[in-house]
Amino acid sequence: MNLYEETKYILKKYGITANKKLGQNFLIDEDAVNKSIEVSKISKSDLVIEIGPGLGTLTKMLLEKAGKVICIELDNRMIEILNDRFSMYDNFAVINEDVLKVNLKELIKNEKKGEMIDVKIVANLPYYITTPIIMKLLEDRLDISSITVMVQKEVADRLTAIAGQENSGAITYAIRYYTEPEKIMDVPNTSFLPAPEVNSSIIKLNVLKEPAVEVKDEKKLFKIIKLAFMQKRKTLLNALTNGNLLTNKQEVEKMMSDLGFDLKIRGEKLSLEDFKRIADYLE
Ligand code: SAM
Repeated sequence: MNLYEETKYILKKYGITANKKLGQNFLIDEDAVNKSIEVSKISKSDLVIEIGPGLGTLTKMLLEKAGKVICIELDNRMIEILNDRFSMYDNFAVINEDVLKVNLKELIKNEKKGEMIDVKIVANLPYYITTPIIMKLLEDRLDISSITVMVQKEVADRLTAIAGQENSGAITYAIRYYTEPEKIMDVPNTSFLPAPEVNSSIIKLNVLKEPAVEVKDEKKLFKIIKLAFMQKRKTLLNALTNGNLLTNKQEVEKMMSDLGFDLKIRGEKLSLEDFKRIADYLE
């Protein structure tokens, strides 16, 4: 049975249809499954956390390769299927919860012991909450080494862009601050059942041991980046003036001149290092 037939068979056996609201588009493309597993470089010393396992397509391969696989799935119809398929594996565990509500720090602390050396995240993400999930994984400073995820293609382009260049947005800077991103492969919408309207890509975020730049106040750095991108069409000078970071426009002009920025530059042209220099100046 190929993946398409297997997926159809499982859905029929349990009498369920995909729930669009939960972003349920099941992967039926063997190449995409194999690639996600291959680039994650999983070994028996790895603890893998899979977000949104659904019917268990990736889970099956992960269980063969990893020391332990913990699945986090919101839809309790999937829990029954996952337990039926995988409860015979002694390295399988499932949590029936919204991933955004799970205390991942605590979970990893309790699980990462003994011979479990690395923690890796692997997922075909529910697209309606891609950004909150990725930001949670990064901002919580989890003890993880990589995040391999399937996301919408346009989102992948943004997440893997070079900050300050084409396709970059505020989130690009956060990704570059915490990780080294890699685009792995594009996956057409026909690789899913049901087929979504959008195309997808697999990306891998290699989590850095230390953030890419050393900044005095991280919160300030991200506040400035957010301000610059909230008013993308405005010059950085106007965006920062409107953001009340300094008392008036003259002060922002002075800061920009001191730091050697063109007064007409737009925020989207700045590198992560440039934003760091602004944040440190304001300290
Ligand atoms: N991994 C499966 C695959 O590749 O075929 C399913 C991927 S499907 C795109 C996304 C999965 O995430 C669904 O199983 C859905 O029920 C689950 N999901 C949606 N929202 C969730 C949440 N807040 N927390 C955990 N899982 C969620």
